[in-house]
Amino acid sequence: MTATATRVLVLNSGSSSVKYQLLDMNPDSGGGPAAGTRLAVGLVERIGEETSLLAHTPLATGGDKRETEGPIADHEAALKAVAAELSADGLGLDSPQLAAIGHRVVHGGLKFTAPTVIGDAVLAEIERLVPVAPLHNPANITGIRTAQALRPDLPQVAVFDTAFHTTMPEYAARYAIDVATADAHRIRRYGFHGTSHAYVSRKTAELLGKDPSEVNVIVLHLGNGASASAVAGGRCVDTSMGLTPLEGLVMGTRSGDIDPAVTFHLKRVAGMSEDDVDVLLNKKSGLVGLCGDNDMREIRRRIDEGDERAELAFDIYIHRLKKYIGAYTAVLGRVDAVAFTAGVGENAAPVRAAALAGLEEMGLAVDADLNAARSGEPRLISPEYARVAAAVVPTDEELEIAQQTYALVSA
Ligand code: ADP
Repeated sequence: MTATATRVLVLNSGSSSVKYQLLDMNPDSGGGPAAGTRLAVGLVERIGEETSLLAHTPLATGGDKRETEGPIADHEAALKAVAAELSADGLGLDSPQLAAIGHRVVHGGLKFTAPTVIGDAVLAEIERLVPVAPLHNPANITGIRTAQALRPDLPQVAVFDTAFHTTMPEYAARYAIDVATADAHRIRRYGFHGTSHAYVSRKTAELLGKDPSEVNVIVLHLGNGASASAVAGGRCVDTSMGLTPLEGLVMGTRSGDIDPAVTFHLKRVAGMSEDDVDVLLNKKSGLVGLCGDNDMREIRRRIDEGDERAELAFDIYIHRLKKYIGAYTAVLGRVDAVAFTAGVGENAAPVRAAALAGLEEMGLAVDADLNAARSGEPRLISPEYARVAAAVVPTDEELEIAQQTYALVSA
């Protein structure tokens, strides 16, 4: 890496999409050492279809968003198209200013507790984890291979969704099932969204004017996927997702916690196949299963019109959230803040108000005006008298990946 190489390309490769951001981590580039200035952002959707879409915004040049529709056959073609867009703005991947490519990798098992420079052995290990992350790791691997082919000389770094949760104590991570069976098949609670939980818990400490080591935070990452975590002094001690991202909170399309016997029942009594049950619980459950909509804006609109199904779906969603706030208060013993983040957590004031309603005995309260105010900045929504702070803390997984990647390659 040359002294001038301060840019990091962040890639988040899904099964049919690639999201990317190019950031400049140079402290002189405008935003201070930890800021990371965004030079370009974009995404490729519907890879492998006739109607693939590449949307690219060149922030560095102040240019408008450019959208290109047309078939993009695979991840290699997608990344080449992204590289061409970046080149057109003078930000090409061949630039000596590019220091590294940081990849979001969903499952790092127990081995990867920190960001890791990707070599053959690392890639083999990510591949070995495919059975526990069949939907995500294969796409991440394809993204890595494609990026390696484009810039074989450049460090490629894997930042794992599971890494932040590897500090969970064994009694929180283990399921109470036969130990030999669990160990033989690596069945345990890994947790996901770790990059977001790490970033948001740190930012929450900053908002409180404290060092992360001094505060206990409950982070509620409420996007389409949703998870809660209990973070004690900067270390994750429990999280709601488990072996897969299906466990825990009610999500957009996933059931979250459920009696596993429901799955036996669906197979034995309802005659569903393994795959049917998988699709039901991951894609046709949660808010969408309960009321037909998974967008919280639409659900609130329907509630305002008196729609009872939407209201019940909302109540079930909130009830589960409350249970996790209570459980993690007990796990942490002392809570300094509850932080809401991601699409729903950052934008849906009624969700925040309902989740904390009636929890005054636990030191929690919401100030209606602060909760209703809109802002992209971390902010408190609790009144001054509240013993436990309630906060909205926008997440930024790409920035966190870029920072972790740059810290590793510039060390
Ligand atoms: P993911 O990354 O898991 O796809 P996001 O964190 O982007 O999800 O969250 C998407 C969800 O956020 C949407 O499904 C919608 O329910 C919710 N959302 C986004 N904007 C708003 C808003 N203004 N009000 C309420 N909910 C919102």
